[in-house]
Amino acid sequence: MSFIAEPARHTEVLGEFDVVVAGGGPAGSAAAVSAARHGARTLLVERYGFLGGMGTAGGVTNFAGLYGRRGGQMQQLVRGVVDELLARIDALGGLNAPQDGLQGRIRVRSYDVPAYQCAADQWLAAAGAQVLFHAWICGVAMGADDTLDALIVETKSGRRAVRARQFIDATGDADVSHLAGVPTEWGDGAGNALYPSTMCRIGGVDAPRALDAVGEFKAIERLMDAAAGRYAFPRRGAILRPQKDPTVWRANVTQLRNAEGRAVDATDAHQLSAAEAEGRRQIVDYLRFLRAEVPGFERATVLDIAPQIGVRETRRVRCATMLTAEHVLGGARFPDAIGLNAWPIEQHVDGGIAWAFPRDPDNACNQLPFGMLVPARIGNLLVAGRCAGMEHLGQAAARVSGGCFVMGQAAGTAAALRVQDRFSLGRLQQVLHQDGVELGQPAAG
Ligand SMILES: Cc1cc2nc3c(=O)[nH]c(=O)nc-3n(C[C@H](O)[C@H](O)[C@H](O)COP(=O)(O)OP(=O)(O)OC[C@H]3O[C@@H](n4cnc5c(N)ncnc54)[C@H](O)[C@@H]3O)c2cc1C
Repeated sequence: MSFIAEPARHTEVLGEFDVVVAGGGPAGSAAAVSAARHGARTLLVERYGFLGGMGTAGGVTNFAGLYGRRGGQMQQLVRGVVDELLARIDALGGLNAPQDGLQGRIRVRSYDVPAYQCAADQWLAAAGAQVLFHAWICGVAMGADDTLDALIVETKSGRRAVRARQFIDATGDADVSHLAGVPTEWGDGAGNALYPSTMCRIGGVDAPRALDAVGEFKAIERLMDAAAGRYAFPRRGAILRPQKDPTVWRANVTQLRNAEGRAVDATDAHQLSAAEAEGRRQIVDYLRFLRAEVPGFERATVLDIAPQIGVRETRRVRCATMLTAEHVLGGARFPDAIGLNAWPIEQHVDGGIAWAFPRDPDNACNQLPFGMLVPARIGNLLVAGRCAGMEHLGQAAARVSGGCFVMGQAAGTAAALRVQDRFSLGRLQQVLHQDGVELGQPAAG
């Protein structure tokens, strides 16, 4: 390995804020809206030119984890600032009706990416949060007493510093925490993490015939098994579903391995780069299969491929509380609850998807604790979203959009309360409740 020395430099301060949110995915967007709504001068820093994170840049096009079963009824369990986003996407004509799956155990809502991007712009602007697009966080400046002073960002205007009193790491990859030296974890500790996938949208689908052929995922698997000699499928467990326009389908069918056959590590520049071309190659191959073998897809074409590979899991920050598989499967309750997770464990393992559902099918949700947003170090930093305090299998559930919106709203609200020196757990829970968050039943005792 060889190195060069860069000269020391003075970096212009772009602005000073109460709260700076790093990353504009579901968690970061909800955090910025919530902090701004509670009076904090808020800036969200995002590396792309639009919000939505994996939901847009990763082509996810589908909200999971908003609905779950409670008291035997399937219902919306994640509420709060996300309701305004959903209403804005709907008003733009981009939100699909709820779709049930897996024998009624899950309910999701698909959306169109441009509608999500525009609705998110409106959502942040209406809350009074500022956004700095095309700004890549590449460093941090530390303050006194183990606090963060500023984020360092690379922009088209050059390298800049963004100062704040409170920071929220919602980068998905825990970039801020990692740069600040906060301990992080990766995968299951034995080299296995959730595999990434490249998402695409397929047009020209004859929906009634395609729905029949794909069925509830089992029918498409049978077609894939029958054709296995002619195509090299990267995984079983293909997820193919119609968008609001039923001739347009989202396809979640790829799986990205590194040279050792393990999940691509999206924090490794070489692996990340190689995975982009591999994801597109797999899509070309899968379209060949769909057109030749699956009724309803004979005239299908790829409408678009997501701007980046879809990353499910990279670094997770070591926090005061780490959400575990047992918390999800046993419907855990916490005294410091900030909202609900309503998604089961969905592991993208080598060659397929492994699901694990809460033991009580009629109450298939668990509370999320504030402790999972509080990193082991750095007093003025909170983390939210897929890089928050979760063990590998806990993350395999709460990483989906629903849980990320919950974490984001709690982190943004808490950061605003901290800026005003009004933070206490009780006050946070009271404000979240007033703002429409479903906290669930209080913990026994
Ligand atoms: C293939 C795939 C399919 C999925 N399917 C579903 C589904 O059907 N339903 C569902 O609800 N969820 C699904 N998920 C999960 C869900 O989309 C993500 O887990 C969720 O988006 C995570 O939200 P987040 O805000 O924590 O992080 P992200 O969505 O990853 O957002 C992080 C943001 O931070 C920005 N950022 C990162 N690093 C930097 C930096 N250094 N500087 C500046 N900005 C930075 C990114 O550009 C991004 O906008 C899927 C995920 C994948 C990968």
